[in-house]
This record gives sequence, C-alpha cells and structure tokens, in this order.
Amino acid sequence: MMVQNSARSYIADHVRDIPRSGIRDFFEIVQSMRDVISLGIGEPDFVTPWHIREAAIYALERGKTGYTSNLGSPSLRREIARHVEEHFGVKYDALSEVIVAVGVSEALDIALRAILNPGDEVIYHEPCYVSYSPSIALAHGKAVAVRTRAEDGFSLKAEDVAAVITPRTKALMLNFPTNPTGAVLPRAEQKKIAALCQEHDLVVLTDEIYSDLTYARDHESIASLPGMKERTIFLHGFSKAYAMTGFRIGYACAPAGLTEAMMRIHQYSMLCASIISQEAALEALKNGQAAADTMREQYEQRRNFLTKAFQDMGLGCALPKGAFYLFVDIRATGLSSREFALKLLEEEKVAVVPGMPLAGGEGFVRCSYATAMDQIEIAAERMAGFVRRVQGRAS
Ligand code: PMP
Repeated sequence: MMVQNSARSYIADHVRDIPRSGIRDFFEIVQSMRDVISLGIGEPDFVTPWHIREAAIYALERGKTGYTSNLGSPSLRREIARHVEEHFGVKYDALSEVIVAVGVSEALDIALRAILNPGDEVIYHEPCYVSYSPSIALAHGKAVAVRTRAEDGFSLKAEDVAAVITPRTKALMLNFPTNPTGAVLPRAEQKKIAALCQEHDLVVLTDEIYSDLTYARDHESIASLPGMKERTIFLHGFSKAYAMTGFRIGYACAPAGLTEAMMRIHQYSMLCASIISQEAALEALKNGQAAADTMREQYEQRRNFLTKAFQDMGLGCALPKGAFYLFVDIRATGLSSREFALKLLEEEKVAVVPGMPLAGGEGFVRCSYATAMDQIEIAAERMAGFVRRVQGRAS
C-alpha cells in the first residue's frame, strides 16, 4: 500500500523555511477587487517601445527560433559590453565576461550560487527588494541585513557594513538606486565601501537595474572604482529602462572566471535566454535610448507631483533620487504599514505596498509611480482624503 505523506515532508528544509512574498499575498487581494488604482507593482506602465517589439516580431519572421550560445548571442554580448563601457566606464570582454540571463532575477541567482559555500554570509541593505534574502538562503548562504535609515536618505554607510563583517562574510550585495526607497549611494561612500571589500576580500554583487532612472545626477557604478572590477559581479537588465519586464532578459558582467562559473549553472538550468528576447534586447541597446529618456522624463514628473502630494498630506516623504518608488513615512497616521495599506485599499481603492514585507520598512509604505499621471492624480486625492479621515478618527 502506498504511504500517504504530506507534501510538506518532501520539501527541502531550506525551501520550507522561505516565507511567501508578502507583496504577492497582498496583490492577490488587490486583484480580486474592481476599480483599484494600483501604486503597488514595480513594473513600468509603458508598453515596450514599438521598435523593440518589432525586433522581436522580425526575429520570429526570420525563423530565429532556436537556442543561442549558453552565454547569449555574441552580437548581444558585444552590444552589452559597449553599453556598459559607455555608461558605467567599466570595460568587459564581450565574449568571456558577459552572460545573458533570464532577467536580473536569474543573473542574481546564478551569481549567488556560483560564489557561495553553505553558511557563507552575504551582507545586504534593508529595506530592499523582496527577493534578496530568500535568494541568498536558496543558495545556502546566510543573509546578514544592514538597516538603512530615513534620516540618511536610506543610503548605505560603510561603518554599518564594517560592523557586521565576520570571517564568514563572502559577499556584499548592493542595489542603488534602491527598490523600494529610491536611494542612491554617493561616490565618497562607494569609495569607503570599496576599501572595506578590498580589505576583507569580499565579492560585490551590484544590482544596478534602476541606474537609468536617476533624476538629479548621473549614475556611477562601484565597479568602476580602481581595484573593484576584479571582485564585482555587475547585474543589469532591460525590464525597467526599456519597459521589457515580460521579455525576461538581463545580464551579468564579471571577470572571466566568475562568468564561467555562472555559465556552468546557467547552461544546466536555463540553457540560454530566449532568442526572441535577445533580439529585442539588442535593438533596445542599439536604438532605445530616446524612448528610455522619454519614459524617464515622465517618471520624473510623476515623482515630483506625488512627493509634493504626500508632503502636503503631512507625511514624511523625501524626494527620491532614483528608481520609480516613493517610500512614504505613514507613522503620523498612527497605523501600522499593513493597517494603512489594507484600510486604504478597502476605503479608497488605492493599492500601495506595506513597507513591512520589504524588510525593515515598518511605518512606511511603498508607492510606485510607474502608473499613468491621471491615475496618480486621482490616487493622490483619495489618499489625502483617507489621511485626513484617519487622523480625524484618532484625535
Ligand atoms: N532587482 C530589483 C532591485 C528589482 O526591483 C527587480 C524587479 N522588481 C529585479 C531585480 C528583477 O528584475 P528582472 O525583471 O530583470 O528579473
């Protein structure tokens, strides 16, 4: 007789311990409701520019439907190397130091799996993108969080990193501009952090997926500092700058030995990224700058409008320097992040992400302004009414 076993007992311990994404659970509720304005999802509201979609269609038309090299098509890798040198000032060899992946998500996963032995510690800064801590755990590493603070504009301080370095620390993960806070990392602090990484021989994983969305100043990568390229895995992709989330395409650049290690994982798990998406990505890099600039200008207008709207409501909201998120301090309402988000959804049909699932974000909510301006204007009006009512109830 077959023994009935619960599925739970089949699951590996390190997977069983991974929490479900709080954002996903929240958005299951959002999706079951009608007429909600969502400032929740971290996804551009723009459709991929037409010439990029056309490149994908044309790839199909020409019968480009097979595998590419495991590392990605040589023409795309060449274009990535050119782009990274031009925009970030770091020179990578197109054929041995660039790997095309299924989004930054996969690039991050193979980077972690390539470098971590079980129990190795990876330092990352919170609040952060939801996938960092689980991705480290899935690669058998130990995630070590460093809190960033509103009073520092949620930027990272070298001294806070230094305080958690141990003999088991293998890597430091950076994400600037940051999801969910929009923080950037000034060059002076980058230099201090780079010196620490060199002193303690740490690998740096730098997720710069939002680098095209910086508003005040040009983005600079830690990889471009002297002595850093050799210990850095630079992660980037097409989802945000070119509104290409559904294409699932990104890349990692790293010294040849590390790229080769990532490739070994990628070739057995993914084989290669979709050729159709690779063709589209090539077009994005060759001819997509104008469309990316236009989208960035629109994000900037929305950012300015929404930041002022929150400040007028009396909520703490500094003007973020990058990405497309506002991280709003809602403590003046007396509600927790979750209460605020749930009540706002129930009473005003506006969805924001409670800061709490984005670790370290209690007392804050994340609002994405990757939503059309007319929707943002209505959402701001509804939120202002909500905040007035909540504060009236409390007094
Ligand atoms: N890194 C960060 C910081 C992100 O915010 C996201 C998407 N929200 C990703 C990586 C994943 O990007 P991709 O679509 O390239 O997998």
